[in-house]
Amino acid sequence: MPSVNPENSGTESGIEIVQLPCLSDNYCSLVHHHDSDTTLVIDTPDAEEITRQLEYRGWSLDYVLTTHHHWDHIDGHEQLKEKFGCKIIGSLADHERIPGIDLTVNDDQQLQLGDINIQVIATPGHTLGHVCYWLPEAEAVFTGDTLFSLGCGRLFEGTAEQMWHSIQKIRSLPQQTMIYCGHEYTASNAKFAAHIDPENTRLQQRQMEITELREAGLPTVPVSLKLEQETNPFMRVDLQALQQSLSLSGYSAEQVFAHIRKLKDQF
Ligand code: ZN
Ligand code: FE
Repeated sequence: MPSVNPENSGTESGIEIVQLPCLSDNYCSLVHHHDSDTTLVIDTPDAEEITRQLEYRGWSLDYVLTTHHHWDHIDGHEQLKEKFGCKIIGSLADHERIPGIDLTVNDDQQLQLGDINIQVIATPGHTLGHVCYWLPEAEAVFTGDTLFSLGCGRLFEGTAEQMWHSIQKIRSLPQQTMIYCGHEYTASNAKFAAHIDPENTRLQQRQMEITELREAGLPTVPVSLKLEQETNPFMRVDLQALQQSLSLSGYSAEQVFAHIRKLKDQF
């Protein structure tokens, strides 16, 4: 297993991913394909920081991919479009709420941008038009505010049932897929996860790793889907182990999901 370096993953595919911390706890990612000299950014929390990082690497910007319409994901769209002439992509359901949008996408749509293959996965719940972007060759998925490490987004527009369905779509991707999410919320998510799933030894181990990473000022993401499957309670609501520790054996996955999402809101 090659070690995971958040600055540089998926190099065998010729694709380089650079995760950028922005604002107080946001992440966005630059994706660069070397042979076709194509560069994308997923979400734009901070146009100036994105521009600085592009210029530092000598990359121009060809496309902006939008996960959802919240301001901390679209704030830099127009400024970047003006500077680089890039095309802005986002979900059809949100086209009126995404500034500068040029191209709309739907669930399951395949995109080829330069030589980068992208699959759109509609994931309503946090917002109704939320989409995730899966790059199979780079073994990476960009989950915005749908899935965080050890957590998931709040239900601002959709239902718990929709969100659970969305999370199952992410859960069914190949296990080695690396999850790039929209925020560094892992440490506080870990406290809640450990509270409701206290017997999970892999989660306890992950919690210690998270403490070490954060004390060293390092990001806790990207994280492998396999590790999330083992530790993220929002991915585990249909498993006996979690249902038993919540005394909810026999309840449906949707009911357990709705229950723990409510608990987390009040935690
Ligand atoms: Zn959001
Ligand atoms: Fe956000």
